[in-house]
Amino acid sequence: MPNPPRIVVLGRQGAGKGTQCARLAAYLGVPHLSTGDLFRTAVRDGTPVGVQVAGYLERGELVPDELVVGIVQEHAAAEGLDDRGYLLDGFPRTIAQAELFLGSDGKGVDVAVELDVPVDVVVERIARRRVCPVDGWTTIVDDPSVAAVPCPDGHDAVQREDDTPEAVRRRLALYERETGPLGPWFAQRGLLERVDGVGDPDEVFDRILGALRARGLLSAA
Ligand code: AMP
Repeated sequence: MPNPPRIVVLGRQGAGKGTQCARLAAYLGVPHLSTGDLFRTAVRDGTPVGVQVAGYLERGELVPDELVVGIVQEHAAAEGLDDRGYLLDGFPRTIAQAELFLGSDGKGVDVAVELDVPVDVVVERIARRRVCPVDGWTTIVDDPSVAAVPCPDGHDAVQREDDTPEAVRRRLALYERETGPLGPWFAQRGLLERVDGVGDPDEVFDRILGALRARGLLSAA
């Protein structure tokens, strides 16, 4: 196997980034860093980072670039991500974040996988998304009126506080404006793989593995 891969996973809210990153992390043995999970845990635990970011999360706004990048750099250093590879989920979210963290040539990453899922599909998925507030375990319920489902650890997976229809609309609009341009940014640097994110999670996972294999980031087996 080549060096542990450094992968950015892009995609609008509800595209399946968290689900696919959890699978990829287990498959590749590479750490998964979700800035959203990191921030939610910090808010829940009342840490200094949590206090700094809580208002942005509540309002469905982006945390300022320098603050996010500083937190991610600190986390990356503490976890030794330079040597272990990484899967970045929900980061970078703006071109400024990408340039600060990956360099203007994008050399800090091997590939950006963009999960392509249309807006109407993600809106419908988010309405049915239930997330465990303790460990981030996520599932999609069949019936959107079901408020809570038990997660494997025995906690209740519930709707995220920022998954209200109003906050979702705001976050999706922000995505188009701030994060959408990252697709072309990675493409210009020869780093983008677009993957169809609609369909069964197993099929989407196979598509992602196919894209990584084509880039020589997986052993051929
Ligand atoms: P997510 O779980 O990725 O949807 O992130 C939840 C919230 O955390 C977002 O709505 C933002 O307020 C904040 N957040 C997560 N990642 C970033 C980032 N890279 N830049 C700015 N804000 C972020």
